[in-house]
Amino acid sequence: MYAPNMAVCVSMLASGSRGNAALVESSNARILVDAGISCRETFKRLKSIGRDPREISAILITHEHADHIYGLATLSKKLRVPIFMTGATHQVWSRSVRDATGERPQIAKLEVFYAGRSFQIADITVMPFTIPHDAADPVGYTFRAEGTKVALVTDLGYMPASVCDHLRKCDVLIVESNHDLEMLRGGSYPWSVKQRVMSRVGHLSNESLAQFFAQDYDGGASYIVLAHLSEQNNHPEIALKAANDALGRQMTLLQNRVMLAAQDAPTETIRL
Ligand SMILES: [Zn+2]
Ligand SMILES: [Zn+2]
Repeated sequence: MYAPNMAVCVSMLASGSRGNAALVESSNARILVDAGISCRETFKRLKSIGRDPREISAILITHEHADHIYGLATLSKKLRVPIFMTGATHQVWSRSVRDATGERPQIAKLEVFYAGRSFQIADITVMPFTIPHDAADPVGYTFRAEGTKVALVTDLGYMPASVCDHLRKCDVLIVESNHDLEMLRGGSYPWSVKQRVMSRVGHLSNESLAQFFAQDYDGGASYIVLAHLSEQNNHPEIALKAANDALGRQMTLLQNRVMLAAQDAPTETIRL
């Protein structure tokens, strides 16, 4: 037990194309989701929210893009906790990365899982599910513990019905609100990059998320965290307004509190 009556907590340590990391905690486990910022920065941010990095129980990876895995080799070496990822994600990552001595990074405790098959980390039931994104085997996650459900889904080109199903009945929904379509179209990215971001395996726009909120979202979450905002092609106020406007059309959604995850600092910890 880490703290009395802690129940389930969620903290976004970093979110965006310069690195992603989130912390999902129950009374018995502390899971780091993604390791996209350096080990040193991860430790610093954990300490800033009052957490001891040595109390991390496991690290879960969504996919092998650098903004989700950059700090993993060092974190694995320092913490020596189980690292969970799919076999394909591990393969692609370990082939592409070399440490300072030119060797492939070794993970002391690798735990391979399959999308669609749940597994247990102490009292937390983790369900990884496939998302449409241009990586080897990308996943989103739901976490269930103590009667609470947390969903985390970023880096997806669109919201397939299978993903919508996993997002039902959650208490915290962490979801990508990557770009404003007008800002992206009119922005400075080369056309090929714009195409990639907008594609079915790219990133979720404010508009696509708004559509999800208006049409497919069940309205049950206490907290919605907008995540992985583009610094070039989005603005926090624009993302917030798009989400609130879409949610506001449904009168039953008064309990949904919309928060913004940030790139450079952890957000306030959500306690359930
Ligand atoms: Zn990605
Ligand atoms: Zn990403």
